[in-house]
Amino acid sequence: MPILETLSLKKKNPGASTGTRWNTTRDNGEYHVVSPVDGTTLASVYLAAEDDYRRCKEAALEAFAHWRLTPPPKRGEIVRQIGDALRARKEPLGTLVSWEMGKSLQEGLGEVQEMIDICDFAVGLSRQLYGRTMASERPDHRLFEQYHPLGVTGIITAFNFPVAVWSWNAMIATVCGNSCIWKPSSKTPLTALAIQQVLAEIMHANRLPEGLFNLLIGPGDSIGELLLHDRDVPLVSITGSTEMGRRAAAIVAGRLGRTILELGGNNAIIVTPQANLRLAVPAIVFAAVGTAGQRCTTARRLILHEQIYDTVKEALLTAYRSLRIGSPLDETNHMGPLIDRAAVGAYQEVLRELEQQGGTVVCGGRVLTGPGYESGCYVEPVLAEANNAMAVVRRETFAPILYLIRYEGSVEAAIAQQNDVDQGLSSAIFTDNLQEAERFLAAVGSDCGIANVNIGTSGAEIGGAFGGEKDTGGGRESGSDAWKSYMRRQTNTVNYGSSLPLAQGIVFNL
Ligand code: NAD
Repeated sequence: MPILETLSLKKKNPGASTGTRWNTTRDNGEYHVVSPVDGTTLASVYLAAEDDYRRCKEAALEAFAHWRLTPPPKRGEIVRQIGDALRARKEPLGTLVSWEMGKSLQEGLGEVQEMIDICDFAVGLSRQLYGRTMASERPDHRLFEQYHPLGVTGIITAFNFPVAVWSWNAMIATVCGNSCIWKPSSKTPLTALAIQQVLAEIMHANRLPEGLFNLLIGPGDSIGELLLHDRDVPLVSITGSTEMGRRAAAIVAGRLGRTILELGGNNAIIVTPQANLRLAVPAIVFAAVGTAGQRCTTARRLILHEQIYDTVKEALLTAYRSLRIGSPLDETNHMGPLIDRAAVGAYQEVLRELEQQGGTVVCGGRVLTGPGYESGCYVEPVLAEANNAMAVVRRETFAPILYLIRYEGSVEAAIAQQNDVDQGLSSAIFTDNLQEAERFLAAVGSDCGIANVNIGTSGAEIGGAFGGEKDTGGGRESGSDAWKSYMRRQTNTVNYGSSLPLAQGIVFNL
């Protein structure tokens, strides 16, 4: 495939890299990357071994010792170069994301754009790692805080955003003065390898310490767990399912390390009788079927007021029947494949459970076969009538299944249903009524980390802090002040007087 050559990837790739140096482990198994687009094998990767982990970790520690001394704006200059290199390769990288993960080319390019955007953000941030000065209660004293680099940052990422989530973490961690070890999903190692090639060029050109950026491809329960248990890694950012995150967080907490948890969602859109349906319907469809329902922010529950339930249902049925499903590389298609056949099996199982629990599929539900669907990963998006109490509705299924749920009465009743699940990532309301919108955003409103008005649940910009509450893990990444998680805060008190007054007026005479 020419794209692999453009990105300097081989048919068989090493699965670990320290900066510009690629490790040579070959005895730990080989992972064949099968594209969900057409079922062909794109390339393979040798899986990293424990020794590779040790090498990367040692290099990361060494790099950190130097990098933390580099002034932050100089670190920003390196991130600027990374952003420029990504700009120059947006097309091939975005195309590889589509081939490997199966999201549409528009979304693949969007994912690379997200990396470029976070680089720009991090460059600006590199001159804005502000601490505060506080008023001291003592005369001739200065009380202030400053932020120092934290150390080696571990980054574990999920398959559905194979590179963007890494960049949210790595680019911020880098301007904060940390070195990084990245363990991407082993379902999507090729885009990670391509990014490491881009980094290697920049590291080489700038003579950076080798261990600044490290990459390890390997299963979560071996390579990932080494990272979780390692006391030399003070922070591990973990993106993935709630089940995995709960276990991983317990391991890191056991050594009193820090985590940033970005876990599963079960996101709802509320549509009230005051909604502008011309906005709501396309937004709902994009939020539910974009990335074939495999975004953590995908809309999974639609909470509709009884007065507009039938109208919205009919409009969605019309829209869903017009959706074109097929290769994500063909820009006329609306929806591509699921990541693999196991995900298709999970989709089928959930639809069986839904019917057992009293739900009804009103549209979709078939696995597609025939020309263009050879990978076995293409499914029809589903609209189903259900209620919020059903077990199947209360858990996250990573597939394009949208549950239609009815509410009666005021917006408070809708908000109560929306909040009545374990997850708390993203939420949205469609209404032109100011009071309903503000109530949704108030302290008694949505309990999610993301709450939107008149736009869908997915498609966040990098400028805001991204993350969610409850079983979503409570972490925040990307913009706003999320950078503070990647640094250690130090409070300083300086006495520039000639006496020793104590805080709280305590008297201690010698
Ligand atoms: P997953 O939990 O299967 O895997 C995520 C990552 O964890 C992978 O790199 C995997 O190898 C690693 N892992 C698995 N077991 C591990 C272990 N024992 N120790 C260390 N690492 C381990 O998730 P997935 O299927 O790749 O992604 C889908 C899930 O991710 C969904 O639940 C989705 O909502 C969530 N997600 C959340 C966000 C967010 O920002 N909240 C973003 C993207 C995806």
